[in-house]
Amino acid sequence: MNTGFSVRHKAVRKGSARSPGRLPAVVIGAGPYGLATAAWLSAAGTPRRVFGEPMECWYANMPAGMYLKSVPAASSISAPESGYRLEDFRTARGRGPVGDRYPIPVEEMVDYGRWFQERRLPELEREKVRSVGHVDGLFAVTLDSGEEFLAEKVVMATGQVPFAHEPPELTGALPGELVSHTSRHRDLSLFSGQRVAVLGAGQSALESAALLHEAGALPTVIARAESVAFGTPPDTDRPCDRPRAVRIAKPGSPLGPGWSLLACSRGGGAVRRLPQGVRLRLLHDVLGPSGGWWLRQRVDDRVPVLCGCTVRSVGAEDGTVRLEVEVEGTGAGARTKALRADHLLLATGYRVDIDRLGLLAPELRRETRTFHGAPRLSAGFESSVPGLYFTGLAAAPTFGPVLRFVAGTGFAARRLARSVAAGTRTRP
Ligand SMILES: Cc1cc2nc3c(=O)[nH]c(=O)nc-3n(C[C@H](O)[C@H](O)[C@H](O)COP(=O)(O)OP(=O)(O)OC[C@H]3O[C@@H](n4cnc5c(N)ncnc54)[C@H](O)[C@@H]3O)c2cc1C
Repeated sequence: MNTGFSVRHKAVRKGSARSPGRLPAVVIGAGPYGLATAAWLSAAGTPRRVFGEPMECWYANMPAGMYLKSVPAASSISAPESGYRLEDFRTARGRGPVGDRYPIPVEEMVDYGRWFQERRLPELEREKVRSVGHVDGLFAVTLDSGEEFLAEKVVMATGQVPFAHEPPELTGALPGELVSHTSRHRDLSLFSGQRVAVLGAGQSALESAALLHEAGALPTVIARAESVAFGTPPDTDRPCDRPRAVRIAKPGSPLGPGWSLLACSRGGGAVRRLPQGVRLRLLHDVLGPSGGWWLRQRVDDRVPVLCGCTVRSVGAEDGTVRLEVEVEGTGAGARTKALRADHLLLATGYRVDIDRLGLLAPELRRETRTFHGAPRLSAGFESSVPGLYFTGLAAAPTFGPVLRFVAGTGFAARRLARSVAAGTRTRP
């Protein structure tokens, strides 16, 4: 890559103030995965620099008023020492313990993540990384401030936002102000009084629709699925209070009760050894689209939900969105329905594609071996570019669905930190 970086080599800081002489490992991103990785790297004594705004995605790319679908016991950011769980944060704030029937407000999760960062990673540098290039086997890191330095290893903990899936046939047919992905919204009340067509059938679609309705908007959910599903409320607050027979038939796990979910939560390493097709199917099928149990009463009889509907075409007309929706049958015999909305909200999820990570220099993206857009990773989360690591959602196609959730931070950060510290160069 010709960034001019190598010719300015002498001006580039080698190492960091924290570890003079040694090149640092750089962690990009300060969401749950970046914070956990940095905590485990520090325990391993690895010199590091960590960049990002703590929990930025949780306050900038999720709607205010949202609740987490994961239970408190599955929502802690991993640290090698005790004292950093969500429960510890609540105790430190003088709040009582909570169990599985407590939906966590997103605002509480943001406060918890910031508390974790202040106590465990005060060295976090609240800056954006502008680019990462490759120079003589090292990484040339440039910050938004203009600072440039070399790193031996880079951990991409940049989360899901770059992977927001916006079907091009929908976004291409509408001007930008009439269509947006859910990840672009913090404040859904800006749609108050407007008709909003919400596309999708998962938690994001259903919760956005509930929040829109409560903010005085007129949402309609359009789902391809034949019906939308909601979870069932936990019978007890603590899994250990469930009858023994129930615990044996459906053991508790961070992803929910059941043997298959327990296997996915505990067996990330084993998932990696499964054939690629099986892994991708697991990622798609395990915990498929559904709303949290506490969401049903906010959607049923309040928000129109059109199931079994596929959007056939969209277009702009008089400053509004015109949708043609297939409601029955397919192809020429399909029955269609026309809908009008003031905005089309895409709750269409996320698809890993490292070509979307613009901060990685094009040659680094080219050198990174992929499958279906996702990086091929070693057991230690290292890509085919030695020293370049991926964690969080980008690693989910390799290690399975637990990497989609905060519950996966322990598994990922422990392995990754061990691999970085050992400098292992196993083949992905
Ligand atoms: C609507 C919604 C609801 C969810 N609910 C739950 C839930 O209930 N439970 C659960 O476990 N999971 C939930 N998830 C998934 C959860 O968001 C992820 O598991 C978690 O955020 C992953 O952590 P992360 O650190 O990989 O990514 P993120 O939290 O996205 O953090 C990545 C960080 O990287 C930063 N970054 C990106 N580029 C740069 C750069 N160039 N320089 C510096 N920093 C950068 C971003 O600002 C961001 O803060 C939800 C996701 C969504 C979208």
